[in-house]
Amino acid sequence: MVAKISSWTANKLSYVGRSQLIQTVLFGIQAYWSQLYVIPSKVLSTIEAYCRSYLWSGTNTITRKVLIVWDKVCTPKSMCGLGLLNIRQWNKVAIAKASWDIEHKAGWMVRKIFEARDTMALIQDIKTGSLIKQIYLKLISDNERITWKTLRFGNDARPKTQFTVWLHMHGRLMTVDRLSSWGINVDPICNLCNSHNETRNHVFMECPFSNKVWEGVLKWMQVPLFRTSQWELMEKWIIKTSKGKSQRAQIFKIAYTEWVHTMWIERNQRIFEKITKSHSQLMREIAYVCNIRASTRIKKLVQQLNI
Ligand SMILES: [Zn+2]
Repeated sequence: MVAKISSWTANKLSYVGRSQLIQTVLFGIQAYWSQLYVIPSKVLSTIEAYCRSYLWSGTNTITRKVLIVWDKVCTPKSMCGLGLLNIRQWNKVAIAKASWDIEHKAGWMVRKIFEARDTMALIQDIKTGSLIKQIYLKLISDNERITWKTLRFGNDARPKTQFTVWLHMHGRLMTVDRLSSWGINVDPICNLCNSHNETRNHVFMECPFSNKVWEGVLKWMQVPLFRTSQWELMEKWIIKTSKGKSQRAQIFKIAYTEWVHTMWIERNQRIFEKITKSHSQLMREIAYVCNIRASTRIKKLVQQLNI
């Protein structure tokens, strides 16, 4: 643009001539650039400064010589201006149009970005640190918190057993009653005791065989036995017993997790591989794993217990 103005400065033109040249430049910019981009205000100021200087001084450098303020020059002739384009206002309109286009014509991705402004409103006061993390935590904290999180945290049991417990606590282990409800035809009898129908509550609260193993584990841990056929009460008891940082709570957490997993694996092996282990064998296996997995803090106590 400056190059263009430089070529014009060679010609001695009247104000009218200059204003016409400026008009072509401004319209050119408007017609091309502002359709494509939002022009930064610093760039706009520079463009204006060159046009203004050229109009009033006929030079290609920025001068301060001004007879009439630029805003006035840039009003339509009907409003006593020179009818030059007010590039600043035009740019504002172009931005507004771009925003309208985005909302009405843009693809789904851009629309999603615009819609996400509602999500930003969730955060009232933004703290320092990762903004994404703050919003993320806000979104997920609206979900119901699990009551048995004490079983999840600081649990030294093997990861695969913790996964089994996670499913078990959600009532999502594929017991026979759940398979039947999906229309899958399977033998409904619990193969651990061969006497009752298999459900989550049966296997982990009522089944004589798995109870026998559990009783052995509790005895080994010196934790008093708790019996119920109501899952809510059992869940409460598990939470209560595994709560806190005491060594007993720590051992209980590992033992309960390992017991659930062991019973589940035993059940699967009986079904799929026809392998059967005795309750004392399973109990010893659980105690053995607890011994290995126990952190150094509780290891001493675990080793004092007699299998
Ligand atoms: Zn059973």
